Amino acid sequence: MSQRKIIIIGLGSAGFAAALAAKKTDPKAALTIIEKRGFDMFSPCGLPFAIEGRLSFDSLLHRFPAEDMGITKLLNHEVTSIDTKSKTVSVVEKSGEAKILPFDSLVIATGAAPLMPFEKINGVFTVHDIDTAKAVSEFAVNARNAVVVGAGPIGLELAWALYKRGLSVLVVELLPSVLPKALDPDMAKQVESMLGRHMKIITGKPLDWIGGTDSVESVRIAGTEYPADMVIVASGVRAGKELAGNAGIEVGRWGIRTNVRMETNVKDVFAAGDCTETVSPISHMPWVSQLSNTAFSQGTAAGTNAAGGYDTFDGSVSTFVTVVGGMEVAATGFNTNFAESYGFNTVSGKAKGRSKPDWFPGSEELTVKLIADAKTTRLIGAQAVGSGAAARVNVAALAIKNRLSLHELAHAELAYCPAVAESHDALTRAAEFALRRIKD
Ligand SMILES: Cc1cc2nc3c(=O)[nH]c(=O)nc-3n(C[C@H](O)[C@H](O)[C@H](O)COP(=O)(O)OP(=O)(O)OC[C@H]3O[C@@H](n4cnc5c(N)ncnc54)[C@H](O)[C@@H]3O)c2cc1C
Repeated sequence: MSQRKIIIIGLGSAGFAAALAAKKTDPKAALTIIEKRGFDMFSPCGLPFAIEGRLSFDSLLHRFPAEDMGITKLLNHEVTSIDTKSKTVSVVEKSGEAKILPFDSLVIATGAAPLMPFEKINGVFTVHDIDTAKAVSEFAVNARNAVVVGAGPIGLELAWALYKRGLSVLVVELLPSVLPKALDPDMAKQVESMLGRHMKIITGKPLDWIGGTDSVESVRIAGTEYPADMVIVASGVRAGKELAGNAGIEVGRWGIRTNVRMETNVKDVFAAGDCTETVSPISHMPWVSQLSNTAFSQGTAAGTNAAGGYDTFDGSVSTFVTVVGGMEVAATGFNTNFAESYGFNTVSGKAKGRSKPDWFPGSEELTVKLIADAKTTRLIGAQAVGSGAAARVNVAALAIKNRLSLHELAHAELAYCPAVAESHDALTRAAEFALRRIKD
C-alpha cells in the first residue's frame, strides 16, 4: 500500500493522543495535524491555577515536537469543511490562503466550546484557553465583585482562584447543589459549607440577568440584585460537532456519534474527545464525558484505528477529581439522580473515615459514598470528599467498568500503612454499609 495519509483536526488532548498512537501504529504514515489556534499545545486544566497565581501562564504552554517525529503540524489553519466522498478537507490559513488536503483516514478532535447564554458585554467572560484566562486574570486586578455562573468543577476552581486573588465571590448554580452532575446533595454539602466560609454560594436559582450597558454593574438572581464587576460563565460546554454534521457525519444530541473503535458512521472517519458522544458502560445509553483523561483515551483508540491498527474505547464513567480550597473531591459513574433517571433502583453506603489513622500526623477527614444497583448489587457510582478522595474513586472507577459487585468491593485488598491509609478503609466500609442495607 502507498503511504497512508492521516489528517487529525484539532491539537488538544484527543488530537495529540491520536497523533502519538497513529505514528506508533504506522510510523510510515504521512500525518498532518491541523489546528486553528495560533499557539502550540497547552494545558486547559491548569488555567484556574494560573489565574490564582500559583503558576505562570507560560508554564501551561508546551511544544509538541511534531516535526522531530515526522508529523506535519499546521497551526493557524482552520478546517472549514470535510468531503467524505472525495476524502478531502478544505483548510483556510489565517492569512486567508485556502487549500484542499486529501486523506485516507481522518480523526476529528475539534473539542467543545463554552456555553454563553448572556450578552457578552465588558466584564463577562468564559475561560477556555490561555487568552480568555489571561483576560480574566488582568480584569481581576481592578475588580472587586466576581460572580461565577455554574458550580461544576471548572466554575468552583475559577471561583476559588478569584477568591484567592482577593475578590468577593458569589457562585450561582441553577441546580440544587454544587457539583450537581457528580455529587449527591449530601456529599455536596461538605463542599458547599467549606466554600461558604469564603464566598457566597446560591444554589437552586437561575442568574436571570446581567446588569450594565457597556460593562457589568450587577447581576440579578431569582429577582434579587447583587453587585458585580465581572461575571465568569462556566455553565457547561457544547461539543464542536458542526463540521462533522455539515459533512453528513452522524451527530447525536451531545456530540459526534462513534462506535467502540471511535469510528463515525462514515468509514475511515474517526472522532475523539469533547466533540464526541459514546455509550455509557453503565446505562448503555449515549454519554459524554468531556474530560481530558477521556479525550486522551479516545484519541489513542481513534489514532490507532485511523492508522490501520485495532483499539477500542470501552466507554467513560466520567472519573474526575478537583481540589478547591484544599478540599479534594472526586467522583465516578452515576450519582443517585442520574442512576434513577436511567431507571436504576439504587442502594447506597456512606462511610466517614480518615485519610490516615487519627493517631497519625496529618490525618484528615475522608467521606466515601458508593451507589449500587439494588437488584444486582453492581457498583454504578462512587463519590469521595477529603484527603485521598481520588485514590478511592480511581479504584471504584475500575470496579464499575469491570462490573464488580458491592461484595467484591467490600473484600477488596487495599494497601495499608498508617502514613497513607486506615487499615479498614472508608471505601470498603462504604461497600459493607450498602450491602447491609440490602440485607436489612
Ligand atoms: C478551565 C478548564 C479546566 C479544566 N480542568 C479539567 C480537569 O481538571 N480535568 C479534566 O479531565 N478535564 C478538565 N478540563 C476539560 C479538558 O480540558 C477537556 O476535556 C479536554 O481539553 C478535551 O480535549 P479535546 O482534545 O477533545 O478538545 P480541546 O482541548 O478543546 O481541543 C480541540 C482543538 O480543536 C481545535 N479546533 C476546533 N475546530 C477546529 C477546526 N475547524 N479546524 C482546526 N482546529 C479546530 C481547537 O482550536 C482546539 O485546540 C478543563 C477545561 C477547562 C476549560
